[in-house]
Amino acid sequence: MKISITLTEKPKEKPDQNNLGFGQYFTDHMFLLNYAKDKGWHEPRIEPYSPLSLDPASMVLHYGQEVFEGLKAYKNSNGDIRLFRSIDNIRRFNSSNERLSIPAIDEDLFTDALNQLVLTDKDWIPELPGTSLYIRPFLIATDPFLGVRGSESFLFVIILSPVGAYYASGMSPTKILAEDEDVRAVRGGVGYAKTGANYAATIRAQERAKKKGFAQILWIDAIERKYIEEVGTSNAFVMIDGVVITPPLGGSILPGITRDSCIKILKSWDIPVEERQISIDEIIAASDNNKLDEMFSSGTAAVVSPVGELTYRDRTIIIRENTVGPISQRLYDTLTGIQWGEIPDSFNWTTKVN
Ligand SMILES: *Cc1c(COP(=O)(O)O)cnc(C)c1O
Repeated sequence: MKISITLTEKPKEKPDQNNLGFGQYFTDHMFLLNYAKDKGWHEPRIEPYSPLSLDPASMVLHYGQEVFEGLKAYKNSNGDIRLFRSIDNIRRFNSSNERLSIPAIDEDLFTDALNQLVLTDKDWIPELPGTSLYIRPFLIATDPFLGVRGSESFLFVIILSPVGAYYASGMSPTKILAEDEDVRAVRGGVGYAKTGANYAATIRAQERAKKKGFAQILWIDAIERKYIEEVGTSNAFVMIDGVVITPPLGGSILPGITRDSCIKILKSWDIPVEERQISIDEIIAASDNNKLDEMFSSGTAAVVSPVGELTYRDRTIIIRENTVGPISQRLYDTLTGIQWGEIPDSFNWTTKVN
């Protein structure tokens, strides 16, 4: 399908690259694609960025039938623009669609849309160290209908946001709180899908934790209430006595692409990795026995984020005296090095856009 392009007549002023933060600024254009039962996906187009017009009865506004993705484009020092593992984001998007009863989007059309939109707004990709262009594809149910059923029309949109360096002054460990009351997801639910409901359900606990001075929540499993699941909206890793452990993808955990990249890099370094359930008690016991080497989380936004302090009920453990561990640092340097084109991409994870 050919993507039609309508360029803006009023380009916006670009924000200061030193103060981008995350998800606050949006580029001049967006990609749109519609679905109708009789036409399938149709009318792929790039248009000036603007508000969407929606019927107030649109099903997404009432029952939340929607999915999204998050990935980044990077501009390296010789002007090359690269995406990181975008095909995996596209496949995960379609896996989320399947869970939410939404028709899949053709992988080639999706790839084309990403490339053409990023190229259209390539002047928006920041170039300062650590910065990137965050890409947010999302899809909403648009039937104007108040009965609960699957929508028969959808709108797929991609928007772009220049984002700043996550660690403006070097990597620093965070303080996290194991959540004992609310749960994020349960097997059989939608935990493995990037869909809005997962995030709406976590806001209350996140706000409570922020008030107590914690940066993130450590989510515990919904059934036995003892195994760790995720850290905020990123995947959890602990290193105990030289072995890296991460919870297995059992349906309640989001299959992070950074998680998968960390596992593959660690294995390439001959560091043992176990995908298995790990209880909060096992982590505390390892800390008591001086065997807890490191704890960190992984995700597209921060890449790798070390944990310096963990509180569960009335226990607080300090990890590595609140310093960044060597494995967290090395994973971060390797992943960002590949993304920014500073070290060879031996895994073939990046694709060139221009
Ligand atoms: C997006 C996300 C992650 C991280 O996935 P990446 O592909 O590494 O960015 C982890 N957990 C949750 C809940 C997420 O939404």
